[in-house]
Amino acid sequence: MSGEESTSRAGVVGAGTMGNGIAHVFATAGIDVVLVDVDEAALSGAIATIERNLGRQVKKEKIAASEAEDALARIRVSTDLAELADAQVVVEAVPERAELKHDMFRRLADVCSPEAILASNTSSISITEIASSGSAPERVIGMHFMNPVPVMQLVEVIRGLETSDATTSRTVALCERLGKTPVEVNDFPGFVSNRILMPMVNEAVYCLMEGVAEAEAIDTVMKLGMNHPMGPLALADLVGLDTCLLICEVLQRDLGDDKYRPCPLLKKYVAAGRLGRKSGRGFYSYAEG
Ligand code: NAD
Repeated sequence: MSGEESTSRAGVVGAGTMGNGIAHVFATAGIDVVLVDVDEAALSGAIATIERNLGRQVKKEKIAASEAEDALARIRVSTDLAELADAQVVVEAVPERAELKHDMFRRLADVCSPEAILASNTSSISITEIASSGSAPERVIGMHFMNPVPVMQLVEVIRGLETSDATTSRTVALCERLGKTPVEVNDFPGFVSNRILMPMVNEAVYCLMEGVAEAEAIDTVMKLGMNHPMGPLALADLVGLDTCLLICEVLQRDLGDDKYRPCPLLKKYVAAGRLGRKSGRGFYSYAEG
């Protein structure tokens, strides 16, 4: 029991790969969600994905059909940020670009209630910096969900320099209510997860570029040899190659070390629009749906 029963209204900004999963777990925990995106197509795509994923959970007998129906009914979509005015917690999941996040947190601090927790799902950008763009840095925190959100257990909880103890304890309790395991870490570029994961993904792309092995062979070595459930190139396709590139760029710039430089082949794939699963093609090809 988490002791977190007071949250009944949440907001999620950005309805892409992560935003739909975050809305999904709020809704299955009994919390009403407003999912906001600038792109109508992203919103309808998110609802279709949530419906499909809820159906999968019903099939696996993780939830009852009536629970899936109730969860779907708790999610409302909008293109208007003002709809988040009465949310008690808002999780931002817009693309991994610092200026976009700064602008969003400035606007969220204006639009949202003075009690709301303003969380970012950023993979690598400084929470302290994001927090400093708005007027409420003590209520800003990192709530870094893993992909796919309904399945993965971890939420990395990142305290910015000004994040209050009250915000941190409410966030930790909320993660537990969502059925997740929160782990508190400090605010450094990439935190723990992507400081370790992205250099490995990037090195796998270097192996591919330099002809050390084919994609399948690289992934098989890491699966069978290191017991990883998924190879690094397949994982990069799941995360999105554009997101991987943006994270590598943040690590290189903010840690000031060229050992994090993104592989030229990763840049080339992103430039060509091969973004992984979300575009149908990355290191592997994905059939429709
Ligand atoms: P995505 O590109 O799949 O989705 C981003 C969504 O944000 C899009 O639907 C886009 O239309 C929307 N958007 C853009 N500008 C907006 C604005 N001003 N207002 C509202 N919506 C806007 O990205 P993603 O992979 O879901 O990543 C989102 C965040 O989550 C990033 O910070 C990323 O680093 C982080 N993250 C990603 C993963 C992953 O595996 N993909 C894992 C953990 C964290």
